[in-house]
Amino acid sequence: MTPESTLRADIVEVGRRMYNRAYTASNDGNISVRLGADRLLMTPKSVCKGFMTPDMMCITDLQGKKLQGDRDPSSEMLMHLEVYKQRPDVQAVVHAHPPTATGFAVAGIPLDRAVLAEVLTTLGSIPIAAYATPSTSELPEAVRRYIKAHDGMLLANHGALTVGTDLYSAYYKMETIEHFANISLVARILGRENLISREEVLRLQGLRGSYGIKAPAPICAIDETAADPADCQVVQAPSSPSARLVADVIRRNSDGGDGAGVTERNDEAEIRLTYRELSQLIEDAVRSLR
Ligand SMILES: [Zn+2]
Repeated sequence: MTPESTLRADIVEVGRRMYNRAYTASNDGNISVRLGADRLLMTPKSVCKGFMTPDMMCITDLQGKKLQGDRDPSSEMLMHLEVYKQRPDVQAVVHAHPPTATGFAVAGIPLDRAVLAEVLTTLGSIPIAAYATPSTSELPEAVRRYIKAHDGMLLANHGALTVGTDLYSAYYKMETIEHFANISLVARILGRENLISREEVLRLQGLRGSYGIKAPAPICAIDETAADPADCQVVQAPSSPSARLVADVIRRNSDGGDGAGVTERNDEAEIRLTYRELSQLIEDAVRSLR
């Protein structure tokens, strides 16, 4: 069991890293760790995570009753309590608003496409929990849908949540989500996101054990949304028994649907022209016929 003084110092360090990386602004974000079987050590409300000291932390029980500390516990305590209730294996919870990942959460685009092997082996998929008013009991309800099968998720129009078997593993998953979101954003700006095939995704999943990764649920690599994200990590991966990467272009969803990038194969790629460009093309074609 890690001494309490070490855990307090670790929370201060992780808070400082999150603030320095701009995962939080002002007093945003919160962090907690298990302190024995029935107690939690948690950041207090209304403090900047970049300038905390070890004595600021609160100790609560698993029902949220404050047992020790001069300050009140985090305003998102209910979300933390829900995670510990649902996941006995979880020792630490981190919540922040990293800008690119939160941008995906605002756009309603989950980070669930099979793109990076490291992300597939560690987090599997990163779904979006439904919008909930921060600090209310709505937020734990939204998180409950995904937390049994996922160690990281986006929170719609809010931020991201990660969990781990110790504080640093929870924090590193927050880094992984923001890093993945940045890479996905660049690939989408470039207009192409080649996907890892379903067969390769399942091969990568088989390597989790040899990497020492204990995922809370298996990956279900499917194209459709038939699988239940409460039971498995739903990853969008095209089937291709012969190729490990499948070329894919991104078509912007212009119908205002769910905002998720609609993908089509190269031969179905959409080309967009302005009315003037189209008229010019027709004029040129007619002229060449004369
Ligand atoms: Zn927040």
